[in-house]
Amino acid sequence: METQSKKRTHISQLHTATLDRIEAAAKRSGRTGADICLTAVSKQQPDHRIADMLATGQTVFGENKVQEAQGRWGAKEQGSFADARTNIQLRMIGPLQTNKAVAACELFDVIETLDREKLAKALVKAMDKTGRQPELFVQVNTGEEPQKAGIAPHALDEFIKTLRTEYDLHPTGLMCIPPAGTLISGQAPGPHFALLAKLAERNDIQNLSMGMSGDFETAIEFGATHVRVGSALFGARD
Ligand SMILES: *Cc1c(COP(=O)(O)O)cnc(C)c1O
Repeated sequence: METQSKKRTHISQLHTATLDRIEAAAKRSGRTGADICLTAVSKQQPDHRIADMLATGQTVFGENKVQEAQGRWGAKEQGSFADARTNIQLRMIGPLQTNKAVAACELFDVIETLDREKLAKALVKAMDKTGRQPELFVQVNTGEEPQKAGIAPHALDEFIKTLRTEYDLHPTGLMCIPPAGTLISGQAPGPHFALLAKLAERNDIQNLSMGMSGDFETAIEFGATHVRVGSALFGARD
């Protein structure tokens, strides 16, 4: 019992501390914390930490793998937190294979990683089949890293146009993950966040999902509306 309540206190302290940091960063950019959506990235976290996070009242969670997310939040699969599922917003933040499009539409409220026409096509079919229409963000590979998902910045405008005119898909946000190690090599992630903001503005897109545990305050100062925070909220992953 005692260990349980200590853990809960710890997670709730991390949650409060993160919200305070978001609030402070928002103020520096002329906004308030209420303008920023905190996505708690629950991938690879043990159940007891997730239960403690739910107890704080946190309602937005992010996952990067369909199957792992089903095991945690899925109703049919009897996910460990199936009961909590109806009260939370679940966001897909990892690369999505076309053969998982139906499962993703069934499970997620938001898919942040639309990045190619083949996936757009699969999602249209999956929405038809499931009767569910998750909100969509487009992932942009701002660092143009070959191993990373996301559409190249120079191809984005055309892609958005194709989504709107040929698929009747209307993404409400852009998402990016700046190259890892930019801090180590002495570069800040700022230019990547600035690029994403510029791309969103010229495509008339309102939301920016950018910033993780190591850089969410910087991202907010560059205009992030959604931050995806894992280890700073839950502690290190397994
Ligand atoms: C894991 C993950 C995060 C969270 O990473 P932390 O550094 O633990 O905050 C954010 N975004 C994506 C896409 C992720 O895969």
